[in-house]
Amino acid sequence: MAEPFFLTPVFHEKIWGGRRLATDFNYQLPDGKIGECWAISGHPHGPSQITNGRYQGQLLPDIYRDHPELFGNSHSPVFPLLTKILDAEASLSVQVHPDDEYAAEHEHELGKTECWYVISAEPGSYLTYGHSAKTRAQLKDLIDHQEWGQLFLKRPVKAGDFVYVPSGTIHALNKGIVVLETQQSSDTTYRLYDYDRVDATTGQKRALHLQQATDVTTVPFEEPHLTPVVEHRGSSTITTLVAPLLSPYFTVYKWEVSGELSLTAQRPYTLVSVIKGQGQLTVDGDAYPLQKGDHFLLPADVTAWTLTGELTMIASTSTV
Ligand code: ZN
Repeated sequence: MAEPFFLTPVFHEKIWGGRRLATDFNYQLPDGKIGECWAISGHPHGPSQITNGRYQGQLLPDIYRDHPELFGNSHSPVFPLLTKILDAEASLSVQVHPDDEYAAEHEHELGKTECWYVISAEPGSYLTYGHSAKTRAQLKDLIDHQEWGQLFLKRPVKAGDFVYVPSGTIHALNKGIVVLETQQSSDTTYRLYDYDRVDATTGQKRALHLQQATDVTTVPFEEPHLTPVVEHRGSSTITTLVAPLLSPYFTVYKWEVSGELSLTAQRPYTLVSVIKGQGQLTVDGDAYPLQKGDHFLLPADVTAWTLTGELTMIASTSTV
């Protein structure tokens, strides 16, 4: 019997985190500044557990390994995507991620291209996004002299925005912003600047990685040109936020359901996060209640499904 896999989030404390994952999403959080909810993950630093059905209690990466047919027999040796919700109570370090080639050689994992759907942002919020250097020599010079104000570019941001962050892009999520992040399954970050903060638990500043960051940053920065495609279906809307023409790793959709929306699989499996509202998912005649904060995966034997209610969801499919 075809069925969705509902998943338990894994929470990570961060120097820049807050409590909005409890207040806004109703999660039972551990104590502390919780910055990250790893919602759909096969990564060893926080794998998702399946909460229903025949694989209840098992880990997503184990099912990915043991049942490749449920994932379209993908040639990726690891579950390739990672969905997170991030709560930036304070600003994250200004950072950059490597591409697949550099990450394979130096970190033995995937590179990291990521993207953000902005769930909420305080008035006046902005991202650090891109840099001003025209040549690699100029980039190195500005980093060597810590001319951060001159190097880093700012981009205003508001709820509902979608931002694509290919590997090699200098970026930071800044204070007051909550996003749903879709990314390659990687945990490699090279920090350029961390506000000279000292971690309360370790009493140390977090490590910087200036050499690696200089190596992997794309020069010059070119802002990706996004062309979202909107399709109306009755009173519901399907928006394709980013697709393979620009993004080689994933397609990301926003589904805004009002009433009933029936969908068919576009790729062998689909990752889904409910970011607003409530309703129901129906698969093979079985109904599953949905509410904000739920995350699930539709494996390859789920070829069609129906959503009902008033829901906003972010879905993604892998292109690898
Ligand atoms: Zn990042």
